[in-house]
Amino acid sequence: MDFKFQRKRLNEIPEAKILNELEKIAKRFNYIEFAWRDFDKMADISANTVKKHFGSWKKGLGALKNHLQQKGLDLSPRPHAPNRIHSDKDLFNEMDRIWQKVGQRPSRTEWEMSDPQIAYNTYKQRFGGWTNACLKFIEYKMGGSILAEDFVLPNQEDQKPLKDSKVEYKQEISRNVSLSLRLQVLSRDNFRCIFCGKSPATNLETKLHIDHINPFSKGGKSILENLQTLCEECNLGKSNKKI
Ligand SMILES: [Zn+2]
Repeated sequence: MDFKFQRKRLNEIPEAKILNELEKIAKRFNYIEFAWRDFDKMADISANTVKKHFGSWKKGLGALKNHLQQKGLDLSPRPHAPNRIHSDKDLFNEMDRIWQKVGQRPSRTEWEMSDPQIAYNTYKQRFGGWTNACLKFIEYKMGGSILAEDFVLPNQEDQKPLKDSKVEYKQEISRNVSLSLRLQVLSRDNFRCIFCGKSPATNLETKLHIDHINPFSKGGKSILENLQTLCEECNLGKSNKKI
């Protein structure tokens, strides 16, 4: 038991030493929010020690910020942050890189753990929220709008000519799922086909559709629970089976 106790003590690095090490690296970079990989290249202690002590890398940087404030040191959070203006294409390229790396739609934490060249908040501000930013990115990758396309597959009802029927035209409109509802479906399904997992973000030429689980023509409602994200292939497969 004594041995165990000593071991623990030996492995523990005091918080002051960790903060001093973070401070040393922050001063070298001349900004605070550096990535843990860069810290690992230059510091005398490992980034894992920082993560373990504070709970996460981000929390470690938070502690560093407080530590510097208490000392009256004022370092900028990020390099080149204030004056850099990114084009939409820059933003999409960086999202592409991180989305591929993470393998799915990145969460805020995943974004910040991926050494982002562009801040998460820049996307939120540019596109009016993270979900919208993801949508714009998916549309950029698809080369077209998900929301504007005819997201419900033609069924027998649709194959009737429209020209002589105002009623049918009204039906066409009433099945329309509102923009915000479609966005909710895509966001819930992480912008990928829930059958095969494909997404325009990671598979070129994948097209996403929003599909009624219980078909609209059979009384299926346009509500979140009855809607799902499918790729074109799976949607066609599904439709063929049902017909
Ligand atoms: Zn699919």
